[in-house]
Amino acid sequence: MPLRFFNTLTRQVEDFTPREAGKVRLYTCGPTVYNFAHIGNFRAYVFEDLLQRHLEYRGLKVDRVMNLTDVDDKTIRGCRTCGVPLADFTAPFKKAFFEDLDTLRIKRADHFPEATAPEHIARMIEMISTLTAKGHAYRAEDGSVYFRIRSFADYGKLAHFNTEELRDGVRVRNDEYEKENVGDFALWKSYDEADGDVSWESPWGRGRPGWHIECSAMAIGILGPELDIHCGGEDNIFPHHEAEIAQSECVTGKKFVRLWMHCRHLQVEGSKMAKSAGNFFTLRDLMEKGWSGREVRYALISVKYREQLNFTLEGLAAARSALQRLDEWTTRLRELAQSASAEGSAENSDSFGEALDDDLNISAALAVVFDLIRTTNRHMDESSLTPNEALSLLNWLKGVNSVLGFDVEAESITPAVSDLLARRATARAAKEWKSSDTLRDEILAAGWVVKDTKEGQKLTPLPRGGG
Ligand code: AMP
Ligand code: ZN
Repeated sequence: MPLRFFNTLTRQVEDFTPREAGKVRLYTCGPTVYNFAHIGNFRAYVFEDLLQRHLEYRGLKVDRVMNLTDVDDKTIRGCRTCGVPLADFTAPFKKAFFEDLDTLRIKRADHFPEATAPEHIARMIEMISTLTAKGHAYRAEDGSVYFRIRSFADYGKLAHFNTEELRDGVRVRNDEYEKENVGDFALWKSYDEADGDVSWESPWGRGRPGWHIECSAMAIGILGPELDIHCGGEDNIFPHHEAEIAQSECVTGKKFVRLWMHCRHLQVEGSKMAKSAGNFFTLRDLMEKGWSGREVRYALISVKYREQLNFTLEGLAAARSALQRLDEWTTRLRELAQSASAEGSAENSDSFGEALDDDLNISAALAVVFDLIRTTNRHMDESSLTPNEALSLLNWLKGVNSVLGFDVEAESITPAVSDLLARRATARAAKEWKSSDTLRDEILAAGWVVKDTKEGQKLTPLPRGGG
C-alpha cells in the first residue's frame, strides 16, 4: 500500500510521493520561545515526530526543519518586562525546549533555524523587496510593509475561505489599520517604542519581520522553494500557513508545498487549555507530578493526529499500564530468546507499518502490537512459543520501536552474546570461576548484566540514560 495522508489543501486523503525520489523535505513550525512549551504544543511535535519516524521506517530520507520563533510580539514583550536583551530572554526557553524534546524522545530535526539569525533576516528582507517590486506588497503610512492579498488569486485556498470575500474586504483606514484591505498582513513592522532595542535596518527603515515571513524565508532558505510536507497545529492554518503560501509562491512562482498536514488542537480535561481554567500543563508540570516522558509521549501519540484528543490524568494512567504490558512482554521474550539457536527472522506481516501508511492510523497500529502481545503471552503461558520465535518477535519490536519511540528495552540478544552465555554456562558447570567472571565482563561490555539464578543465567540490559 502506498503512503497516504490527508492534505488540508485538498481536504482529501492522497497518495504521497516526494518530489525527489527517496527524499522528503519537511518543514514543521516550531515554538515561540517566550515561555515553556505546553502539552498542546507537544501534541503537534509528537505527531510530527511520528510522521518523520514512519517516513524513515519506509526507507525515505527526511530532511527536516523546525524553526524557533525568537522574535515576535510575545518575545519582545517578555524581554521588555524582564529588562533584558531579547537573546538573553529567549535563551533559557530554547534550552528548555531541547530538554523537553529529549524527555519526549522526539528526534532532533536536521535544522533548527532561529528567526533572528542574520542570514534569515537578510532573506526575509530580500523576499519582501521582491514582493514589493512585483506589486504584491506595499508600504503603508506607518512605514510597515503589508502583503496585498488582493494580488494573489489563490489566497484562502488552504483554509477554504471564500477568497472573493477575503480579497475584496473593505479598505480600512483608522488608528489600527493603515492597510488597503483589512486582511492584508504585515511583512515588515516599522519600529515602535514598545520594541525597545529590538530592530533591524531595512530598505523601509528600522523595524522587524512579521511572523509569517519568518517561516517562509527559513523554509525556502534551507529546503528550497518546493517542500514536500509542511506541518503544524490546526491553529496555524489561518492566517499563518495561508500567508506562507501567498508570500512564498508570489516570490518563487512555484508551488510551495505539496502536502499540508495539521493536527487537531489538544484539549485538556475536556476544555481548552488556559491558565485560568487550571488545566494548563507544561511537560515539566507533569514530570513533577511523577509522570515520565515516555508515558506522556504514549498519551499524546496514541490518538490519531486528526482526531480529538482529550488529555486527562486517566489517559496518562492508561498510558502507564500499556507501557508496563509492553515492557513485561519484552522481558518475557528476552528471557525465552536467551536459548535461541538462530538469529531469528523478521516478522513476515507488516500490518503495523501498513496501519501507519494509512494516514498515520495509530490506533490500528497499536492494536496490532497489543493483539500480538495477547496471543504470544498466551503461547508463552502454554510453553508453545519457541526461543527462535521469541527472538523473531524481538527483532520485529525493534522496527516498531524505531517508529513509536517508546524505547522499549528491545535490544535483542545477538548471537555473539548468546555464544558468550553458552560458554559461561559451560565454564560454571566445570567450576572454572575465573573464566566465568571474564565472560561475565565480556557480556557486560556487550551491554548486558548477567545474573545467576536457580533457573540459570538471566540477562538484563544495562540501564541507558534519558528521562
Ligand atoms: P506556538 O509556540 O504557539 O507558535 O505553537 C507551536 C506549535 O504548537 C504550532 O504548530 C501550533 O499549531 C501548535 N499548538 C499550539 N497549541 C496547540 C494545541 N493545544 N494542540 C495542538 N497543537 C498546538
Ligand atoms: Zn511557521
